[in-house]
Amino acid sequence: MVTATAVRTAFAADVGGTWVRMRAGSVGAPVERLRSPSILNHPGRSVEKLRADMVELLCHAAPADSQAAISFGAAIDHLTGTVFGSAPLWGAEATPYDMGAELRDRRPDVAWQLVNDVTAAVVDFAAEQSRPGVRRVGYLTLSSGIGMRIADLERMRIPVDGNGLQGEVGHLPVMSSSPELRGLLCECGAPDHFASIASGPGIARVAERLGLKTEIPEWLPEALAAADPQAQRLLELCVEPVAQMLRTMWCLDPHLDLIGLGGGVVEGLGAHYSDELCRQLGQATSYADRGWSRAQLADRLVFCGAGTIDALRGAQRVGQWLPGITS
Ligand SMILES: [Zn+2]
Repeated sequence: MVTATAVRTAFAADVGGTWVRMRAGSVGAPVERLRSPSILNHPGRSVEKLRADMVELLCHAAPADSQAAISFGAAIDHLTGTVFGSAPLWGAEATPYDMGAELRDRRPDVAWQLVNDVTAAVVDFAAEQSRPGVRRVGYLTLSSGIGMRIADLERMRIPVDGNGLQGEVGHLPVMSSSPELRGLLCECGAPDHFASIASGPGIARVAERLGLKTEIPEWLPEALAAADPQAQRLLELCVEPVAQMLRTMWCLDPHLDLIGLGGGVVEGLGAHYSDELCRQLGQATSYADRGWSRAQLADRLVFCGAGTIDALRGAQRVGQWLPGITS
């Protein structure tokens, strides 16, 4: 486990398939942006070489004796820094890679912490949007995939399981009441996952199932603005699993006071998305779920527009949470 000390310089990086953004020092310091040593940028290069290049890049950039927090767009064991695979970085290569161990071996003077980009996002969201009295805060991203993280602000902890994971909800069985959507495949290849319906690719799959043969990202916002009934039905079906999950989470954890929603789906559909989600959450489903008023939802949900949440800034702030990322 990595322990933060007051004397260490902060170093943060946000590693994506296209760019690696890095910053040493405070949150306001300049950002350096380099092309990522990824399969996306170097299709012919071996995964072994790409991983070695990534380690080299980060080890070269980290200041001496720094506290380094690296955000990755991949499932990560937060306890060790093992990366479980990332399509944009390493393609279909699925063998877990202990990048944390590699970095510690190469630069033992640096205190390395590797986090998933949704973890970095919840840290940034908590810092930017939380208010006094908020006990637990969550961040849900709906984009090419779906991920959620919850942080305990009272104890400054982000709990993870024995595999160092938390909130990988995209591949849970989907809560949908629509038999017409049965059997839709997820990006992972399995049917009937949360992401089969509610992610960006999921919305396209639902549209296809409904017989809508059109370019959904371009068509949907305009069709919703024109109150097209097919577009409204599509949105209703794709929002339903999200509403179901939020109801369940609030039922199990009434102290989950604030949740941010972000990612390409939320950004792209804007008020159409937030209005539909709040409409569904407003409906009473039982004595245990009496329906949430608009005022209650405005107090509990934050719909994050493009640029509101920054994984690099979040990674920079991860040091404040150490050693609270723990099982
Ligand atoms: Zn899946």
